[in-house]
Amino acid sequence: MSALDRSHDPGRTSWVSSANGHPEFPIQNLPYARVKHGNTPGAIAVAIGDEALLLPAAIEAGWGNDLPPGALCVGMSALNVFAGRPPTEWRAVRLALSDALSDPDWEPRLRPALRSRAALEHLVPFQIYDYTDFYASMFHATNVGLMLRPDNPLLPNYKWVPIGYHGRASSIVISGSPVRRPRGQTYPPAASVPTFGVSRSLDYELELGIFLGGRNPLGTPVPASEAAARIFGVCLLNDWSARDIQSWEYQPLGPFLAKNFATTISAWVLTADALLPFRVPMPARAVSDPEPLEYLRVPNDWTIAADLEVELATAKMRDHGDAAMTVSRVQFDQAMYWSPAQLITHHASNGCNLYMGDLLGTGTVSGPTPASRGCLLERTWRGTEPLMLPNGESRKFLEDGDEVVFRGTCRAPGAVTIGFGECRGVVVPA
Ligand code: CA
Repeated sequence: MSALDRSHDPGRTSWVSSANGHPEFPIQNLPYARVKHGNTPGAIAVAIGDEALLLPAAIEAGWGNDLPPGALCVGMSALNVFAGRPPTEWRAVRLALSDALSDPDWEPRLRPALRSRAALEHLVPFQIYDYTDFYASMFHATNVGLMLRPDNPLLPNYKWVPIGYHGRASSIVISGSPVRRPRGQTYPPAASVPTFGVSRSLDYELELGIFLGGRNPLGTPVPASEAAARIFGVCLLNDWSARDIQSWEYQPLGPFLAKNFATTISAWVLTADALLPFRVPMPARAVSDPEPLEYLRVPNDWTIAADLEVELATAKMRDHGDAAMTVSRVQFDQAMYWSPAQLITHHASNGCNLYMGDLLGTGTVSGPTPASRGCLLERTWRGTEPLMLPNGESRKFLEDGDEVVFRGTCRAPGAVTIGFGECRGVVVPA
């Protein structure tokens, strides 16, 4: 299952000319999104250069005739059913897309099924029933710990157990959706009693989202050797966080209302097959670190070679036509202590049933340097080192009108670079 095939061939080009040399969506990528389409509940589309192929229209035009009949559910209104099909069918569909989009004989039939990507209205690509957020970057965990417990930043469980919490699926929104500043209960340091009001410490968290495929029945763990095969695809994820609400409510059960008011995901789902050329080994653990327990030892474990970045543009910057400021850049594959497969096998290790379309957040992706920290809490060190913007404004946390955009690309020697598209959100007043 893990061999490259002709869909990864760096020499393959498309009759959709904008795909050739495209920085994010060349024919080697072919990610899925769900878009508004007439009166339907949504349609699955595949990005190809500056355009997108609407799958229901492509199937109507005869594409996919040679596929196993079950695989044509990729043309349904959300990706859940397709993600429940075997990974061999995921790959067969990708090959059929790659072949048709590279073969000029298909152009007359498929061109009517193309739409400009810029004109698409996106929907959340899955019916997401469950969302879990992890805490898998040790740099992030150490930085946050340093602010709370300077002499004991990393809790003793961190290197033994992947830390996570159950998030809320209903408030996951697609890139471009406005994010309303939450109200909540806080206990400001200078106050004598808690108060209820508008959050003053709104933050973003740069993460990858992992969409699962397949299912394991309740009571049936996913062995470490089978966990990676449960990855259907990945996206960018912004776990918006109200730090003032969080710091008052989080003990002893963890995040609650500080996190569940909005989570933004990027529109395009990069598939596990598209990511094959970008698999790299996990960073070596320090020799003084414990070996993972047996159930967390993933054979030939890997992570994804992805460069991620955060851009910030205030309302004033956008009004003046100023370019957004790049706030952070981080290499995902160097930042995480626990691998995607370890998160999955751990999640199911108690028999928890994971379902196609479930979403796992990796946790804030922070690297070892200040410029690679994936949230403002760390980037401004809890507001003590404000971020200076090019126009003279400064930020400790997000203000109303601020726009946060995440981007990411996957690069590897000998492979065509592919991108995630953007994960965008503007903060609107409470
Ligand atoms: Ca998070």
